[in-house]
Amino acid sequence: MGLESLINIVYILSAITFIMGFKLMSSPVSAQRGNLLSAVGMGAAIVVTLLYPEVVRYQFIAIGLAVGTAIGLLFAYRTPMTGMPQMVGLLNGFGGLASLLVAWAEFIARPEQSAFGGGVIWLAGLIGAITFSGSFIAWAKLEERFISGKPIMYSGQQFVTGGVVLGILVLGVLFAMNTAAPDAALFLGIVTVLALILGVLVTIPIGGADMPVVICLLNSYSGMAACASGFIVHNNLLIVAGAIVGASGIILTLIMCKAMNRSIANVFLGGFGSGVQAAGMEVVGEIKPVKADEAYLMLEAANSVIIVPGYGMAVSQAQHAVRELTEAMEKNGTEVRFAIHPVAGRMPGHMNVLLAEANISYDAMVEMDAVNPTMEMVDVCMIIGANDVVNPAAKDDKASPLYGMPIIEVYRSKAVIVMKRSMGKGFAGVENPLFFKNNTRMLFGDAKASLQALVNEFKGTN
Ligand code: NAP
Repeated sequence: MGLESLINIVYILSAITFIMGFKLMSSPVSAQRGNLLSAVGMGAAIVVTLLYPEVVRYQFIAIGLAVGTAIGLLFAYRTPMTGMPQMVGLLNGFGGLASLLVAWAEFIARPEQSAFGGGVIWLAGLIGAITFSGSFIAWAKLEERFISGKPIMYSGQQFVTGGVVLGILVLGVLFAMNTAAPDAALFLGIVTVLALILGVLVTIPIGGADMPVVICLLNSYSGMAACASGFIVHNNLLIVAGAIVGASGIILTLIMCKAMNRSIANVFLGGFGSGVQAAGMEVVGEIKPVKADEAYLMLEAANSVIIVPGYGMAVSQAQHAVRELTEAMEKNGTEVRFAIHPVAGRMPGHMNVLLAEANISYDAMVEMDAVNPTMEMVDVCMIIGANDVVNPAAKDDKASPLYGMPIIEVYRSKAVIVMKRSMGKGFAGVENPLFFKNNTRMLFGDAKASLQALVNEFKGTN
């Protein structure tokens, strides 16, 4: 068997591990195994790729690996759990940059390309550049660094974006038709600059509660860029792996859009989540703060409790205290379930990961669509650091930037306990009428400390 066949057999086996890994990742119980399996597959693929005769100098690869590993490790150790979305955003961006560099390297090394070859170089550079600049804008928005997290809109925005797209298309055709022409480098250079600008243009109008959609989409772009690079360097596994990432990113994007009850076009053109408080509906009622002992009495008497975790649970790292309280309530004969909104937290699956880390059974989780119709029968809904995903303005207030987003309708339950530190707003920056409703009680304080106080009440140690 020749080297080429051996490499391709390992590539096929690696592709199988990716697909099986994805299947395992669909459940928190098997996700770690899935991750490990795919990583082993990727490791084997990297090793056999290094056997290609075209790889002549290992020292550059070793230096790149060492520098990349050091930076990656540093980032991973320094990034708190709450900073993971930003980190994912940055990693997408680096994937895009790698594809952009591959496109340029191929063009410089072999300027004589067929129209197909030129088209692929153009495409890899284009998607890579959009992913790179778009990801950095997404990172800056999530970090609220250099730029506001809110949508940035200006008049004629769609015409400007349309003009840039047109320029990229025209120059792309000119470039691909004759990559050896004297002007080809200039065309590709302008396409690169325009694509970098396009990445910024398509990301700045998105903000507020729509950010999950952008992160998923940029993730998909990085896969597509890698797939295009695979065509450039004739690497079958890069094509397959890129296509898998591209396709799964698109599926996740559609799931996120469904969770927000919005179409992709709507997300990109709408400037959703402007963070401007709705003028339409007035918030009525008054805040009713309670102490842990009063909240305990409500929970102690409840037959059924729904816990709705949100970003604040991640900030306070309260997941283990949540498990302790759940166990105490179950011991008391209460049925405890968890309702997780698809966009709760700051990244897809954020809450599921945290609850799985605390060994909270996956069986206790209920889908939003399943729990909402039963809400009137629930004795207490306990909101742990969630805000936007339980905001009734999304249902009632047409002027709200959240309007139309499906929510967990906790306000329809018999009683609601909200745990948060203050009257601070959520990610979308809007007031939440839930906090003022008659059946809502506010338990102010850090979520972990409040949960611990409740556990102590159950244990009788307070
Ligand atoms: P949220 O609307 O951002 O609200 C989080 C709440 O947690 C805040 O109101 C804050 O209130 C409270 N909080 C913060 N630290 C706390 C602590 N230590 N203890 C107790 N409470 C604390 O969160 P969400 O309801 O989970 O909604 C997620 C939002 O993020 C949505 O708008 C979603 O679209 C957006 N988003 C989601 C993703 C994703 O992929 N899931 C990505 C990007 C953006 P206090 O300051 O008063 O404590």
